[in-house]
Parts: sequence; C-alpha cells; structure tokens
Amino acid sequence: MFIDTHCHLEDEKFSEDRAEVLECAKIAGVEKIINFGSTLKSSIAVTELAKNFFELYAGVGIHPEEIDDFDEKTCVRLAELAADKKVIAIGEIGLDYHWEKDSARRLIQQKIFIEQLDLARQLNLPVCVHDREAHGDTLKILQTAGKNLRGVLHCYSGSLETAREVWKLGWLIGVDGPLTFKNSAKLPEIVKAAPRDMILIETDAPYLAPTPYRGKRNEPAYVVEVAKKLAEIRGETLDKVAAYTTANAKTLYGL
Ligand SMILES: [Zn+2]
Repeated sequence: MFIDTHCHLEDEKFSEDRAEVLECAKIAGVEKIINFGSTLKSSIAVTELAKNFFELYAGVGIHPEEIDDFDEKTCVRLAELAADKKVIAIGEIGLDYHWEKDSARRLIQQKIFIEQLDLARQLNLPVCVHDREAHGDTLKILQTAGKNLRGVLHCYSGSLETAREVWKLGWLIGVDGPLTFKNSAKLPEIVKAAPRDMILIETDAPYLAPTPYRGKRNEPAYVVEVAKKLAEIRGETLDKVAAYTTANAKTLYGL
C-alpha cells in the first residue's frame, strides 16, 4: 500500500474524471491521498473533496506564488477550515524565487510563510513546504520560525548538504516524478543518503508525471513509479519502500 502525500486533485484537469482517477489509484495500491491548497479558494476545494471521499485528506495554505491572495483575515479562514478532522496539515506554503525575482515581494513571501508557520504551531499541525530556488532562506526560516514544528520539504530540489540540515531538524523530504527523469541530477545521491524515516513519496499531480508518463497529466496511481525508482536506487524491495514511506506519512500526518 502507498500514500500519495502531495497532490492537487481539486485542479480542473480532474473535473471530468476525478472518480475514475481515484479508482485507478485504489487499483494501483494507493490507499490515501493528501491534496494541498495553494489559495484560499483551492484550500476550500481540497477540504470539501476530503469530506466527500474517504481516502482523501487535505492541507490548507497560501502558496508563495499566490501571496496576493493573503490578507489579515486569511489565517482565521485557514484555521476555520483546519477545524475539520480531514484537514491534517498547513500547506503548501513556502518560498518561490524561481518565479519571483523582485526582492521586496520575496520579503513578503517570507513574512507570509512565517505567519503560516505560526498558524501551524497554534493549531499543532505539520507543515508542507514549497521551496523553489530559495533553499538558503527556507532553511533559515525553518531553523528559526519553524523551530519545533514538524513537516516536509515537498518535491525536494536542494543539495545533499541542505537535506542533511533539514533531517537534523527532524523534517522529511518529499520525492516525486523528477527522481525518475534521466536528468534527475543530484536527487539519486540524496535519496540514497536519506535515513529511511526521512522520505515521503508524492506525485504533485497534475504536474511532474514520472517516467514513463512524463509530459502527460500526472495522477496519484503513478506514485508507484516513484516508489519503484526509490527501491532501485536504494537497493530495496518495492514492498519495503511502500512499508516505510507509508509509515512515515502516517507518523507525520497522524493518519
Ligand atoms: Zn504542489
């Protein structure tokens, strides 16, 4: 059994066939799926989906590319959503310096990231962090504002050195489709070095479909391809990878 720990099934790309996608996931052995919001609207949508489907859970938060969606009422609204027992995390939140080059707006990203980390602490929830080309500042914030919080750096794209600092904080890394790509660069080395209790598998569907589905719409069933690659790189059986990644997800998110 597998858990897809990071997904966006509220996306309109699934509006035609969401139930079939869930059925395919079940057949592939994916027993639970966690969908993350990136705006208030999508946070409401993932919460509603989680209420309607037994196998779905939700994380709520404002993504760093969506900071214009954040105002003084946002944390109150997110807290209201998080009162539902199927809402199990704050996310995805974090920093994205790939799409944001303006230094003033990067500072706003940091402020909103920190406010949502504070919210996670108040609500005693784990955190799912998006970090794109902002590894130094993300780590600094996790070491300070994120102190004593639990969470995952989803779709990990930093260095092995940064990963070691992340693990030292007790945070996990999330691994997705890019691990299966030919140009996966430093990722194989990082997952090889990762302690077994520090890795989660995820799809980030509809984005980042793994080989052999690369370029197509991604879906939770394909998380098995990520697990297979992990097994190959780490010299473990698929069963073993399934067992410990599922256990890690259950421990982090209290499933
Ligand atoms: Zn995502």
